Amino acid sequence: MTADIIPHTSIEAHQPSWQQELAAAIHDPAELLQRLEINPAQLDASTAAQKGWSLRVPLPFVQRMTKGDIDDPLLKQVLPLGAEMLSTPGFSSDPLGEEDANPIPGVVHKYHGRALLIISPACAIHCRYCFRRHFPYEDNTLGRKEWQTALDYLASDESISEVIYSGGDPLAANDNFLLWITEQIAAIPHIKRLRIHTRLPLMIPARIDPSCLHWMSATRLKVVMVWHINHPNEIDQAVIQAAQRLKSNGIELLNQAVLLKQINDTPATLVALSEALFEAGIMPYYIHRLDKVAGAAHFSVSDDKIQQLQRELLRLLPGYLVPRFVYEQAEADSKLALPLPIKSSI
Ligand code: SF4
Repeated sequence: MTADIIPHTSIEAHQPSWQQELAAAIHDPAELLQRLEINPAQLDASTAAQKGWSLRVPLPFVQRMTKGDIDDPLLKQVLPLGAEMLSTPGFSSDPLGEEDANPIPGVVHKYHGRALLIISPACAIHCRYCFRRHFPYEDNTLGRKEWQTALDYLASDESISEVIYSGGDPLAANDNFLLWITEQIAAIPHIKRLRIHTRLPLMIPARIDPSCLHWMSATRLKVVMVWHINHPNEIDQAVIQAAQRLKSNGIELLNQAVLLKQINDTPATLVALSEALFEAGIMPYYIHRLDKVAGAAHFSVSDDKIQQLQRELLRLLPGYLVPRFVYEQAEADSKLALPLPIKSSI
């Protein structure tokens, strides 16, 4: 692919830039509730939880929330609550053992053949259930010299064929840096694929602009973008258009969701999510069991229920629209599949 086929006309001229939309994100729970016409007294919004992991949500995502609905599934993903302050046995600050798989700053190398780069510590949104909400980003924010050390690490291990851009959100970095580092990685012969884990095009579809499409489509690497969409209400027309801009530039689009209690833990919601993703040109890929990160226990869905949901999706959807139900363990050398029950009881 070359930059020549990038559709420059698909973003309206009057639209704010993605940087402006990022800067305008809401940080104050009271402001968010006011915009949604919800009386703060109706909710247990917690100042203590907000101090530990502040609210952050961009306006395009807020606009997809339903006004007056305290149970809105998008609102529940971002609003700090008192439940986050409860200590729950088995829930820890590093549930996936990433600190042990962090050989040098900026690199997480846990699985064979793949290495993950912490491209940016910042995210457009702060998801309350994020397994990296306690990650030591201050030790993994690199200058150009340290990036060269990370690149040398990738070049020295010929078993690595895929590099994953992660964070935070890698698309929070600027395109000049992303162009530079992608060129450096493409110069390493044994690396074939670039995978980008991001929520930014979902939060702010304007992030997929010509400058972003340029570095993604100009590289020799095969580029796969893994979205993180949990509920069908997150997908609107602007998101679909962003996905189309990516697809028309040769980017493969997959989705991973996290199963979240009272947000997306019903067969109807998950069926609607798979169908909405497919309409948008994004293939359902994974549904993750919640990682046991401290402060997120109230989002947890039981294994029995997860297995029954899996069985129901197999019954209700064609196989290619059923994502794989997986979980991670700190010491495991791959993601692990959740077993199926013999019979559905939902
Ligand atoms: S966008 Fe991803 S990395 Fe950022 S807070 Fe949400 S889940 Fe965590």
